[in-house]
Amino acid sequence: MNRQRRQLIDFAQHAAGLDNAAKLKLILFAAGVKPATFFALRVSPQNLDEKQHLERHLKACKLPFIAGKARGYEEIVGIKGDTVQWKMRGTWYGYDVFADRAQVAQFKKYLSLVQRKKHADADRVGGTLYDYAPCCVEHYIKEHNVAFLRKNYSYFSYYKHLHDAERAFPLLMHTACSTKCAASKKMNAAYAATLKKYAPAFWKTFSAARKYAVDVVVDSESELNEDFAYGIASSKPVFAKKDGHEFALLTLKPVEGHYYLYSYLTRLALKRGTVFTARVTMQYNHADIALGKPKRAIKNLHHERHFTLL
Ligand SMILES: [Zn+2]
Repeated sequence: MNRQRRQLIDFAQHAAGLDNAAKLKLILFAAGVKPATFFALRVSPQNLDEKQHLERHLKACKLPFIAGKARGYEEIVGIKGDTVQWKMRGTWYGYDVFADRAQVAQFKKYLSLVQRKKHADADRVGGTLYDYAPCCVEHYIKEHNVAFLRKNYSYFSYYKHLHDAERAFPLLMHTACSTKCAASKKMNAAYAATLKKYAPAFWKTFSAARKYAVDVVVDSESELNEDFAYGIASSKPVFAKKDGHEFALLTLKPVEGHYYLYSYLTRLALKRGTVFTARVTMQYNHADIALGKPKRAIKNLHHERHFTLL
């Protein structure tokens, strides 16, 4: 690997404006593992120089990129009474980055297929571009069909499939077709080897299991609607009968500097606003949560967002 690439990886490991998912994608891309990727760079008064800094590294590596428009981002800053308070924290930019001009051409083909609603063809082109396993891409295409979903899953087993795939292959950006997927196993192992070799500082913090005891409150519940399927406009739920619930659990205190919304799958119908003690184990980009006893209830829990335009 040349010096410019090593410097880009170094930037990615330490940039304050890249979260773990963005660091992971940019490092794997810079190491030559992924032909293209998309990530977000957040800019706040604390890291105003990072946009220029990133672009300088990309140019030094002669990597084509498309920087998106500035968009504002909000973060949860506290919970007061029954109100989850959000505040504008800065600006973010989306970056599409490519190994070479041929990948840029593939990206344009991908966008054109999406625009023409040729979803399956778009997924196949996108899958190659972003280094997803072909068997998983085919499975993903099948899953965008209401009849297939109803035949193969219940509400609970659908979300369990997503959670299990994420735990089995924490370095992959695609959802594996199964936890036994051979292509995904191979890919995840190769990504781990690349990260250990070229980004040891990031690997150490990202792969470490961090345990926290924190109170959480039950927030909204996930719903898979029929418009998830390609070409369907209906907002009716895919699964009429609920044999489980995927909730967002919000931490009542910051964890690692942020209020987190964890997704939590359970057979139990928890009431929104219930506060539980919890033991959280965070590793890679997921969190395992063991709920303790219910402590109290917050009536009318709601979010207050401002949507300030920059
Ligand atoms: Zn697969």
